[in-house]
Formats: sequence, C-alpha cells, structure tokens
Amino acid sequence: MRYLSTRGDAASSPTQSFCDILLGGLAPDGGLYLPETYPQVSRAELDAWRQLSYAELAFAVLSKFIDDIPPADLKAICDKTYTAQVYCHARPGDNAADVTPIHWLEQGKLALQELSNGPTLAFKDMAMQLLGNLFEYVLAKRGEEINILGATSGDTGSAAEYAMRGKKGVRVFMLSPDGKMSAFQRAQMYSLQDENIHNIAVRGMFDDAQDIVKAVSNDAAFKAKYKIGAVNSINWARVAAQIVYYFKGYFGATENNDQQVAFCVPSGNFGNICAGHIARMMGLPIGKLILATNENNVLDEFFKTGVYRPRKTAETFVTSSPSMDISKASNFERFVFDLVGRDPAKVRELWAQVDAGNAFDLRGTPYMDKLAGFAFVSGASSHADRLATIRSCWETYGVMIDTHTADGLKVARENPVAGMPTVVLETALPAKFAETIREALGREPEVPADLQGLEKLAQRVEVMDPDVNAVKAFIQARV
Ligand SMILES: *Cc1c(COP(=O)(O)O)cnc(C)c1O
Repeated sequence: MRYLSTRGDAASSPTQSFCDILLGGLAPDGGLYLPETYPQVSRAELDAWRQLSYAELAFAVLSKFIDDIPPADLKAICDKTYTAQVYCHARPGDNAADVTPIHWLEQGKLALQELSNGPTLAFKDMAMQLLGNLFEYVLAKRGEEINILGATSGDTGSAAEYAMRGKKGVRVFMLSPDGKMSAFQRAQMYSLQDENIHNIAVRGMFDDAQDIVKAVSNDAAFKAKYKIGAVNSINWARVAAQIVYYFKGYFGATENNDQQVAFCVPSGNFGNICAGHIARMMGLPIGKLILATNENNVLDEFFKTGVYRPRKTAETFVTSSPSMDISKASNFERFVFDLVGRDPAKVRELWAQVDAGNAFDLRGTPYMDKLAGFAFVSGASSHADRLATIRSCWETYGVMIDTHTADGLKVARENPVAGMPTVVLETALPAKFAETIREALGREPEVPADLQGLEKLAQRVEVMDPDVNAVKAFIQARV
C-alpha cells in the first residue's frame, strides 16, 4: 500500500509507505496523505471479522493499510494496545473486553459506542495509544529518536502524553495555556512523573502556545537538529486506527451483515468522521454518517449548502464542548479529495482559496450530486441544547453523557434514519467536564475509581512566558 498527497505534486511529494509517513505531518506539497486506493472488504471477510476481538479486528483492518511492518510484529502491537486493562472505563454492565462496547439507549434503535474508556477518558486514546506503540517500534528499528512538540487546549495533549509516557526514543514537550484548562485536565497532564514527558504552561492563551509550536517547527535547522516531530490530528495513522471502531460498532449494533447502521459523530477537525467515511468506502454497510457540530458550525454549513467557509480565530466561539471549537477542519481536505474525484488540481485550486482566508463554493457544480451520494447529513447544537440533552439522557435512560456526546445525541435525534439503528459515538466521559454537568444536572459527574483524587497528586510543570527562545532553550537542555 502506497500513500499519495491530496495536492498530488509527484515531484516534491512522491508516494510513500506507511512507516515513511508515520513520523511526519503534511506532505511536502502541503497536502495530506491518503492511500492510493481504498482497500475493499469482501462479504466473506465481514462475516469472518464479526467474530473477532477488538485487537484481532484492529490487526485485520490495519493489515490492509500497512504492508511494511511484518505481520507478526503488527499483530503484537495491536494485542498490546487494545486490551481491557488499557480501556478500563466501560460502564457497569458493559463488557470492557469489547474495548468500544455498544450501550443501547433504546434497544435496537439508538446506542452510544463507548470510545472514551482509555486512560484520558476521550476517544483520542483510541488512536494515540496505537501511535505510541507504533512510534516506539519504528524508532527502535531505525535507531532514531523523536521529540514531539505540541500545543493543547485539553484532550490531545493528555492523550499524547499517556500514549508516549515511558516509550523509548520518544520525548514529549507539550505546551498548554497556563490556568486555562479544567482542574481535571491539568491534573491529568501535570501529574505525570515520567522522565520523557515535559509540560510547559505558557502565560497566555492556547493561540500563544500554538504560535510557539509553529515558530519552532518553521525553524528548519532547529527542527532537524533536535528531531522535532508532531502527533497532530492530520497524522494518517490516527485516522487509520479510528477506522477499526466503525467496524466494531457496526458488528456490535447489528445481528448480521445485511443490515445497515447510521453513525453520528461529534466533529471538530473531521478526523473521527473521516475514518467513518473511509470505512464506508471500504464496503462497511454504513447507511448514513451524521455529522454534529457545536456553535462552531463550519462543517454543518458545508454539508447543508456546499459552501466551506473557514472561520477566523476571532470568529471561533469558546463553548462547553471545547474539543469541537475549530475554525478550520484540518482533515476535511481528505474528504474533499474524494469528493472531487481525487483530482489534485481541483484540491489545489480550492485550498488556494482556503489558505488565502476565503471560502469555496461548490453550489451549482456536479460535485453537489456526488456529495449527496456520500450519505452525509449534519446538524448543530448550542450550549442550551447540550444542557437539555444531558438532562434528558440522564432522566430518560439513567445515562450520564459529556458535552460533546450530547452534541451528537441532539443531532442524532433530529435526524432519525428509518430502518437502521443509529450509533452515537461517545467521544469523552463526563468526568472531564464537571462544570457543565453540574449546570445541567446539579450534581457531580461520575469519576472512575482509578482517577479519583487525581487532582491531589503532585504536579510537574514549567510555567513560562510565551517566548520562542525560552521554549527552544528548554528543549535543548533536555535532549
Ligand atoms: C477531538 C474531539 C472531538 C472532535 O473530533 P475530530 O476528529 O477533531 O472531528 C470531539 N469530541 C471530543 C471529546 C474530542 O476530544
């Protein structure tokens, strides 16, 4: 399996193997990597896969995308990653061994798929845990090291740190805005005592932290000398890992492979739902992909109108489902590449507009018919909707959900799909968002037993002014 760039400049960005793109980010031409063709899953394979454990299914699916890791090694990596010990936060009565259990709200009709049972209680663990093990494996094979530099406003940073802690050949330098994350999120990151994990709290906002990461990454000499890498949401391996749980969710929500399923996905950077799109392109019987946004409705607007109008930072709302507060959906280019018939010249044309800060408009083009064929619907949710949905889910089903999942459930209820169950992807657990839970329910969220008292643990964090040189010096002193 070879990977090509969505911008298709074969001279600067020739096709690559999986391991070659694993440690990188964007293709040199500025595009995103995708497989040359989507591998197809036969009916016989689907029938056989229905019986598999999560780790076995991960190996079966990922084998179709990865041909430069020996099968026995890939199998061992999947077995080590997807265990009931790592994904230990299943709801009472659900089978932790399923890793992403289906929890019916209405039997046969409406379900949650628990994607947040990993160490940091958000679905980012599903891919990041695999990435940690893949990085360690490939770096050891090549005798290399990497220093991961990132900025986080919450979920990504902690998922990366828990995935990379103690991994040989990997150090993490994670910038966060000082005092801006929830107490739980701070405790999750800063209580890690592993020597290869470094937390830097920047006196400023998330954007200040992000600007520092960009400045360091744009210093080509520093980047090369200190082997600076990233684990951001455009990383192909993260998307690949997420394809697996659509298969698992499909099998969990159906009795046989003649049925269809609708998946509803709380979306921000379009990484999660992009994996659903690819699972569908591989032949998984997904009847509908329901995209849910919060007040930051750039993607809802696109799927409703055909106009993609990325927002400026100043137009991006800070909401109570913060992990969906995006102005530009970084993975969206992958979907648009398929939408325009994999024509890289068209993608370059559209993203010339996006990169110049403008919208693009597909209304009146043949792409609109194609869009209808991809089986997406969409909707948006507000803070009031989240509160009402958290409340009604609690009162009707006795199930406490987080704010992002509430956005999904709200939009799923608005878009019922006849003749098939709807599975809402649960992208975080309520413990991470106590403030909104208190507002909605007047009570504290459930905190998993192994994370109680987290806020009382000793914390390890360096507080700094937003100064690129200070961050560079911090890295230099530790590699
Ligand atoms: C990251 C995240 C999302 C959005 O996922 P994308 O892949 O960026 O679309 C939704 N909910 C939670 C809790 C997240 O952490």
